Amino acid sequence: MLLVGNGTIITRDQNNTIIPNGAVCIRGEFICEVGPLKILKTKYKDATFIDAHGGLIMPGLINTHNHIYSAFARGLSIPGNHPTDFLQILNGTWWRLDRKLTLKQVDLSAKAVYTECIKNGVTTVFDHHASFGAIEGSLSVIGEAAKKYGVRSCLCYEISDRDGQEKKLQSIRENFEFIKACKTDTTGMLKAMIGMHASLTLSDETLGYCVEQNQGENGFHIHVAEGIQDAQHCQETYHMSIVKRLYQKGILGRKTIAAHCVHIDETDIELLKETDTCVVHNPESNMGNGVGTTAVLPMYERGIMLGLGTDGYTNDMLESMKVANLLHKHNSGNPSAAWAEIPDMIFKNNAEIAGRFFEDPIGILKKGAYGDVIVLEYDPLTPMKKENINSHLLFGMNGRNTITTIINGNLLMKDRELQHIDEAELMSQCREGAIKLWQEL
Ligand SMILES: [Zn+2]
Repeated sequence: MLLVGNGTIITRDQNNTIIPNGAVCIRGEFICEVGPLKILKTKYKDATFIDAHGGLIMPGLINTHNHIYSAFARGLSIPGNHPTDFLQILNGTWWRLDRKLTLKQVDLSAKAVYTECIKNGVTTVFDHHASFGAIEGSLSVIGEAAKKYGVRSCLCYEISDRDGQEKKLQSIRENFEFIKACKTDTTGMLKAMIGMHASLTLSDETLGYCVEQNQGENGFHIHVAEGIQDAQHCQETYHMSIVKRLYQKGILGRKTIAAHCVHIDETDIELLKETDTCVVHNPESNMGNGVGTTAVLPMYERGIMLGLGTDGYTNDMLESMKVANLLHKHNSGNPSAAWAEIPDMIFKNNAEIAGRFFEDPIGILKKGAYGDVIVLEYDPLTPMKKENINSHLLFGMNGRNTITTIINGNLLMKDRELQHIDEAELMSQCREGAIKLWQEL
């Protein structure tokens, strides 16, 4: 039993309750009580005390769109690769990289990303994987790393027609095999979806086949209208928008994640709303790829289930929050915009999206919720209350303020010390893996 105390509790419940000098007690995998430290300390005398040193005690952060496979792209430069549009980025960087990944490199990428997640207070990750040179078993490799490192994960493999029939069938099989394996997992730590690349590399036949195999059981995780080329390709080939195409094919729904949704229109927003599809915004990635700005504010107003991800750009959700806040103020030319929407996306909606896959309450500190708790080092220089806590997070902190990370009741980092990971050894192995991969490119 763990008792995390001596800090300000941010519950992220409906009332955004804050408890100064509070504590969270975790018994097994779940939170058993949240309240004033004084009371909980007497009640749970035998619990191991985790000192928050006067910082913030919060629910772990959730990343609803990430790419573990992109880890080894850090610092990579491929000779002759100077993309001028999104399709060239896919062709010149990502597809070249993922075709060369070995299962060993996938394993190391996963471990490196999970380590960064733990250090940044990210306790749940929705990953979208591709390794077209090593498809079979790749999700199990990531799943094993997730279990070993203790980070809650929802995984899928990117189905695509881009590398031919055989690879496509392998990628479909990989999803369904992993879904089957996940069903036997009783820890609640591992979930699965059906991954899909994007409309422009998915034929009608492929979409139809996947929907038929799925029989309505699992959600899809797909990139939607990220680059303008994807939207144009759909109009030219199928004479409709991507969202409409996915709607007609039965891909949308409350357990489907549509990442990006940059190039969509009013009718598309209606369809996303009607189907209660999750839309995940990735501000840094969109800006970095120069693909345009997602209409987050109008979608929020329409009540779309809008989440926030990183798309592999970073594993720091507070950084993503900062960039989203700036992007939508900048884009709308309105300095008062996005104050409420972005915090809702990262805290409230990401928790709700995760709750569509994981059985128990997540992203909240309350009795019965998963024991996913983080401690952030922070001494506010101005008064801090529930009304302005998001501004303190926005302007006063980043992911690396995390000093302690607990997932599913397991203490993974304490006072910035990773409890089960030899980080120096892992990074050394990663560098070796990256050198080998880069030589192949
Ligand atoms: Zn992505």
